[in-house]
Amino acid sequence: MSDKQRQNRSGLLVSRHNKAEDTVIKVKQMVIGGSSHILIAGPCSIESKDQLQTVAFALKQAGVRVLRGGAFKPRTSPYDFQGLGEEGLKIMNDVAEEMDMVTISEIMSPSQIEIASPYIDIFQIGARNMQNFDLLKAIGQTKKPVLLKRGPSATLKEFMLAAEYLLDQGNEQVMLIERGIRTFETATRNTLDISAVPILKQETHLPVLVDVSHSTGRKDILLPCAKAALAAGADGVMVEVHPDPPSALSDANQQINIEEFQAFWKDLSDSGLYH
Ligand code: PEP
Ligand code: MN
Repeated sequence: MSDKQRQNRSGLLVSRHNKAEDTVIKVKQMVIGGSSHILIAGPCSIESKDQLQTVAFALKQAGVRVLRGGAFKPRTSPYDFQGLGEEGLKIMNDVAEEMDMVTISEIMSPSQIEIASPYIDIFQIGARNMQNFDLLKAIGQTKKPVLLKRGPSATLKEFMLAAEYLLDQGNEQVMLIERGIRTFETATRNTLDISAVPILKQETHLPVLVDVSHSTGRKDILLPCAKAALAAGADGVMVEVHPDPPSALSDANQQINIEEFQAFWKDLSDSGLYH
């Protein structure tokens, strides 16, 4: 299709005007979007097989089947842990096969698509890469589901247009995730823009999730924020879980341990908001 034809298309592909019914993404036997919720949980970074297995086992016991973990890490400082790369993805693949789980991990450049594809089920595009247009176009040409994070300073219009790049290239299996935006507030790591949820649900047909860990950066308010997300219409929640958060190689302050995860999950399930 020519650029001219694309410009003339009536409205955006992500728009509800273009497609009224909710997009439902199927990965293995999991369904994301539609009438049921999902919880995505796992460590910030994959650090070792032991670490990932411990988390995955606890998730599996709790009935949570989507495992997250970063192997290519977008760190603010070049001196911070950059992730295990392909080695980390191999660990993730092994653990997911053992425990029959769906996996999600971030890639940061088009060249990582080929490396990561055999190992993971869902590509994550991180907040810092929301407008990495080469990456959007390249992932748009794959058939894998994508979780697109909102940029820390992106308007919702910019967020939707970033998703449009993926759909325009033919990949319709796109989920959006609000992960907090940069404001003057310092009580939280970012400011969770809860209004993004009903607006994105109204304006797009894509599943909309909320990352309660990166948006708040603190463990003590994860539960109310997760409840707020679901009450506002989110299709699911992401939370970071680590066997021993103080020793974590990234985001040590915001990750919850297994016991805290179990309490969080029980309270969220008991709230009746998660179904
Ligand atoms: C992550 O989810 O691993 C991450 C780095 O988050 P964000 O891109 O939202 O900062
Ligand atoms: Mn993290």
